Amino acid sequence: MTTLPLLSSNPATRTGAGVGRAVAVPRHLADLDLAGRRHAVAALGEKEFRAGQLSNHYFGRLVRDPAEMTDIPAAARDRLAAELLPRLLTPVKELSCDGGTTRKTLWRLHDGAQVESVLMGYRDRVTVCVSSQAGCGMGCPFCATGQGGLTRNLSTAEIVDQVVWFAGEAAKGMGPDCPARLSHVVFMGMGEPLANYNRVLDAVRRLITPAPEGLGLSQRHITVSTVGLVPAIERLAAEDLALTLALSLHAPDDDLRDELVPVNQRWKVAEVLESAWSYAARTGRRVSIEYALIRDVNDQPWRADLLGRLLAGKLAHVNLIPLNPTPGSRWDASPKPVEREFLRRVRAAGVAATVRDTRGREIDGACGQLAASQNGPQLPGNELSRVSGRGRKAEQ
Ligand code: SAH
Ligand code: SF4
Repeated sequence: MTTLPLLSSNPATRTGAGVGRAVAVPRHLADLDLAGRRHAVAALGEKEFRAGQLSNHYFGRLVRDPAEMTDIPAAARDRLAAELLPRLLTPVKELSCDGGTTRKTLWRLHDGAQVESVLMGYRDRVTVCVSSQAGCGMGCPFCATGQGGLTRNLSTAEIVDQVVWFAGEAAKGMGPDCPARLSHVVFMGMGEPLANYNRVLDAVRRLITPAPEGLGLSQRHITVSTVGLVPAIERLAAEDLALTLALSLHAPDDDLRDELVPVNQRWKVAEVLESAWSYAARTGRRVSIEYALIRDVNDQPWRADLLGRLLAGKLAHVNLIPLNPTPGSRWDASPKPVEREFLRRVRAAGVAATVRDTRGREIDGACGQLAASQNGPQLPGNELSRVSGRGRKAEQ
């Protein structure tokens, strides 16, 4: 029998480690709520209100350089920044395309693990796609991240800092056609967010709490994408947060889903959909059903019809994703006519469905592909490698 990856119940501390080398992640103010930050500042022998000032620089002004924190005395600000704003993410590779409105960064973490995040600017919103784990233990065979296994969970602040960093980039302006404010976050980078539940939820709380405690984003603008860990979906529903849930289904039948999404061997299609509908009922939020179309694997008309039957009348939206083939994979994206027919059949069942924008493909846009493809131009040490792709239109 296949051994399934377990839900991470690692109570481990704030380290975020738990798998692999357990080197503690440096403490960062985003790991703590405001009360915790006040406590930490007092323990450093500083006035408690400095916690609010420091937090306002980081979350409110998107500033992390102590030299710019002129309301804090110079000696105190260097010490506070060293203790509570350590550098967690070092960019090792930056790629951009679509005229700079799609940007991807590969980060090195303090222990050498690598993760990536992508910023996407649209006319009406700016979205960042973040990683929740270094690697992933879920083993989906079409996914680049899944091929390397799980390295470790990210800490709360390692997740939050990806967002805050890109909020700063968005504020500098991504171009004339994009708002200068980051508005949306999707947990669709590396890792299974619900397998790092506590830290992901803490990160979400930081993101939705107004400054100085957090970034003040709308709950509805945060999407948690999951492979379908049923107990964790139920737990998420009970949090009474209005987050958007995306369920990576990829097959409407257990035979195929057992293969494409190995965790299906534990929680079957019927069970995972039931938990999605409970989530929708409890939160009032439409669930996004993710379906990567793989040529001759899951793109048959009968599977489109079955998917339509399973979802008809439910609070769901199908997102068809053209497969982004991973290097060396035997699988490919479905041809466009097959994709169109699949979409037509799902819609004919009365289910809302769209084909996902495939932005950023030429910069290894799919989750985990940049970290997996280490053959791109990359400079040693801290130097940054910047590569620009030629603009490619989104296929929405
Ligand atoms: N682990 C979570 C979130 C990260 S993956 C999950 O699986 O939902 C984010 C999305 O990218 C998922 O829907 C996943 O199935 C999809 N994905 C992974 N590899 C892909 C690939 N090669 N092509 C297209 N989509 C892919
Ligand atoms: Fe993990 Fe999601 Fe990739 Fe599956 S698709 S291996 S759950 S990151």
